[in-house]
Amino acid sequence: MSERHLKLKAELAAFIPAERLIDDKLRTIAYGTDASFYRMIPKLVVRVVSEDEVSQLLQLAHQYQTPVTFRAAGTSLSGQAVTDSVLAVMEGNAWRDYRIHNGGERISLQPGIVGSQANLYLAPLGRKIGPDPASINTAKIGGIAANNASGMCCGVADNSYQTLESMRIILADGSVLDTGNEQSKRKFAESHKPLLDSIQKMAESVQSNPELAARIRHKYKIKNTTGYSLNALVDFSDPIDTLQHLLIGSEGTLGFISQITYRTVAEHPYKASSLVFFPDVATACEAVVILKGQPVDAVEIMDRAALRSVEDKPGMPAELAGLSETAAALLIETRAADKDHLIQHIDSIQMSLDSAITIGEVSFTNVPEKFEALWKIRKGLFPSVGAVRASGTAVVIEDIAFPLESLAAGTVELQQMFVRHGYDNSIIFGHALEGNLHFVITPDFSDAIEVKRYHDFMDELCHMVVDKYDGSLKAEHSTGRNMAPYVEMEWGHDAYSLMQQIKQIFDPQNLLNPGVILNNDPEVHVKNLKPMPATDPAIDSCIECGFCEPICPSRNLSLTPRQRIVILREISRLQAGGEDASHLLSEFKWQGEETCAADGLCATRCPVGIDTGAKIKSLRADNAGKTSQRVAFFADKHMGAITGITRGMLATVNGISRVTGPGFIEAISGGMTKLSSGRLPKWDRWMPRGASALKPHQSIGKNKLSVVYFPSCVSRSMGTASDDPEQRDLQQVIFSLLEKAGIDVVIPEGLNDLCCGLPFASKGLVDAAEQALQRTEAALWEASCQGSLPVLCDTSPCTERMVQNFSQEIKLQEPVEFILEHVLPHLKQVHTLDSMVLHITCSSRKMGLADKFLQLAQSCAKEVILPEEEGCCGFAGDRGFTHPELNGAALANLKKQIPAGCKNGYSNSRTCEIGLSRHSGIPFRSIAYLIDQCYEAAE
Ligand SMILES: Cc1cc2nc3c(=O)[nH]c(=O)nc-3n(C[C@H](O)[C@H](O)[C@H](O)COP(=O)(O)OP(=O)(O)OC[C@H]3O[C@@H](n4cnc5c(N)ncnc54)[C@H](O)[C@@H]3O)c2cc1C
Ligand code: SF4
Ligand code: SF4
Repeated sequence: MSERHLKLKAELAAFIPAERLIDDKLRTIAYGTDASFYRMIPKLVVRVVSEDEVSQLLQLAHQYQTPVTFRAAGTSLSGQAVTDSVLAVMEGNAWRDYRIHNGGERISLQPGIVGSQANLYLAPLGRKIGPDPASINTAKIGGIAANNASGMCCGVADNSYQTLESMRIILADGSVLDTGNEQSKRKFAESHKPLLDSIQKMAESVQSNPELAARIRHKYKIKNTTGYSLNALVDFSDPIDTLQHLLIGSEGTLGFISQITYRTVAEHPYKASSLVFFPDVATACEAVVILKGQPVDAVEIMDRAALRSVEDKPGMPAELAGLSETAAALLIETRAADKDHLIQHIDSIQMSLDSAITIGEVSFTNVPEKFEALWKIRKGLFPSVGAVRASGTAVVIEDIAFPLESLAAGTVELQQMFVRHGYDNSIIFGHALEGNLHFVITPDFSDAIEVKRYHDFMDELCHMVVDKYDGSLKAEHSTGRNMAPYVEMEWGHDAYSLMQQIKQIFDPQNLLNPGVILNNDPEVHVKNLKPMPATDPAIDSCIECGFCEPICPSRNLSLTPRQRIVILREISRLQAGGEDASHLLSEFKWQGEETCAADGLCATRCPVGIDTGAKIKSLRADNAGKTSQRVAFFADKHMGAITGITRGMLATVNGISRVTGPGFIEAISGGMTKLSSGRLPKWDRWMPRGASALKPHQSIGKNKLSVVYFPSCVSRSMGTASDDPEQRDLQQVIFSLLEKAGIDVVIPEGLNDLCCGLPFASKGLVDAAEQALQRTEAALWEASCQGSLPVLCDTSPCTERMVQNFSQEIKLQEPVEFILEHVLPHLKQVHTLDSMVLHITCSSRKMGLADKFLQLAQSCAKEVILPEEEGCCGFAGDRGFTHPELNGAALANLKKQIPAGCKNGYSNSRTCEIGLSRHSGIPFRSIAYLIDQCYEAAE
């Protein structure tokens, strides 16, 4: 680290705790990536939590002349969220306040809120935010506004620029302006008169130059995020209005957005879609011109190469494979406030396309499954290229726009360019209604010839888009480093010098994200290219998009899935070059390996299907020593004894706590945990009582239906929490439910020795895990009369493992599915809770049961609270006992989301429930308890 960075860090340490000042090798490399194909390793990462911290950071940056780059979710594609200086990352649990105004007409959002979360807040009011990037499930408000991101529906009318009401901004000198507050504006007008005067002068000079003003207006008729938002200079007369609109799309180069108030847009509930085929891409583009005047909300274009990339995937319409070599498609969506208007829209669109040359009829569907199937084609395009590309290659998604009347000619010319430059597998898709095309190429930047090819391609592309068609070089992904060399080419000298003046006025020292948007280096777009070395086929297809990050339980503690992959790649790169990777390897042990819950939830968000948890488990297997394996085999062999001992120990501690009160035991246990350096798990009032032992049991013949009940080893040993007024074990509750529903129970022979092997598998002890699994499968096969009886397992993660790995056809269900299918039809509801918290386990999500889980809970309570951004709770089997910090970090936001009157939480995994109780302060139990409380036998 340079001397100025060291001094800056020392000053920051006076008010920012050490854990939020990161400068170690491993984590600076981990933070050196965003979703672009650039990598820059920061000297210092500061995880900021408040306006005050950002303000002081900027003042110190000024004092030490040290550049600062802001980061929200790091999903940018043009290299604007990376730096080799100071990276100010918004801490995950901070910057998440929001306020809804006027029944949802406006919403104030802090910049750390994920875009889709903002829409969840607005959904009950029939509203949403205007900007709709495809990355909305991950991208945060700060990044969405600072990139002026947009997507399929928002066009040029509903982006951040057009829907901005007001903003809180921290300027380069650390001062704060709230444009929604008159007093703040007055104060700012006094303290920053020269800045406002300069802005006003610029705006007046542009507005009095009709040619320049007309050019600027013209450029924003189509999507444009190249350079600064110059339209702010023609659209407003009040300099504060101009200032706040200049911040939109400024990519962190003019100031920090600490709050934004948007005017929201209507979210119409009725929608229908149609996939229309055309003989060639030019004909499709001509149809877009017709559709522009129609009540359409989205028109997505896909060229033949794009359609071909998905035609073999499951669920794709058969026509795709039969299309000619030149064909293209438009996916059209229309929305309406009611059914009648939807029908009118469809009629109007169909009539308008009578004059177009289409292949087949234009028919719409509003049937959810068919509708989803159509959009699956469009959504599958980018992953299809990303997942099958050669290892070691990057994924480059470009983002240009043509005026609509030139879309046909521009698209054809683009296809010809791919052929000329040898980009054979490139695909074109995009938001045709706005003339916005994305295309994907996959160059190998470790090869200098490939870098030159990309360079030449970009030169030709930019000349074609600008000189021939007066288009936009970045329609929605923003300039970054990628398009910085071409900003002047697109805008011309006069407009470009306006942009230079803007930067000079806001950031005279050039300390805010320097080199982004404006850059004098004509080669900046081919420098700092990200290395993508081959590591392991299981993760090589990672495009470092970051979509997996929001649900990872370790994201605020150690590394995210993306960062784990970044480090594994770096280790491979070093090792391939004969360099020393030992430091990274040893740091990765805790950061990457031990603090991964290995739940695999990341795979559910990954566009190319990577399960980072599986990769970590395979690393654990590689590293598992012989002793661990011997211990695992021993444990498996003595499973009955171990569950018995666990039961006994828990019962003993619980007994003592009943006599002494829980505080006494908690204190002693805390001390023991410290003395053992964390090896002895800490006992607290949320630890379970010992469960009562279950005897072999068979009751076939009494009722019509018989089921096999397999209580997991966890529920056989752990009862409810010591502090929970409910004292019955889960097994007793399951028996009660089965009896109410009139279902006979079979308990498998040798139950005490059975385990699905999950505790071993998650530690990479695969042989012992497999042995346990096979024994359990054999016992359940036998008990279920060779698969003819359903089997209920009371623990979701165990059920998932068995469903995935059993070789025989055994109908296994966890409580949610089992209760819905077999129990509820025989019961009547007698009680409803006012409110409850629901935690849907990762395994339930992965088994596709999230909606059913919610539906079941909602049948029992007037209000079901689903904690936001809840993914994995981080307890991870028994990891919560050995690494409680992971559980603590994952659930840090839980308690404040639970309203005062809410007294009960439900889930379907006992160990997860321990952590959930501990971090919420209310008991969490299996959903079976809730059903037992709310339902009685029908007769
Ligand atoms: C697969 C994929 C699909 C995508 N699809 C789209 C799409 O359809 N449309 C689209 O527009 N984009 C798309 N993107 C690009 C990107 O996701 C969006 O631009 C997104 O809005 C960036 O948000 P973020 O939270 O990741 O911001 P980041 O990448 O973290 O930051 C974006 C910029 O904003 C600055 N910044 C961050 N926070 C602040 C703040 N509080 N104040 C000031 N500056 C700040 C950063 O310095 C950076 O320059 C896609 C990306 C991927 C990987
Ligand atoms: S693992 Fe998947 S979701 Fe995560 S960064 Fe890589 S490609 Fe994106
Ligand atoms: S398995 Fe879980 S903890 Fe591990 S990287 Fe994936 S989401 Fe994160």
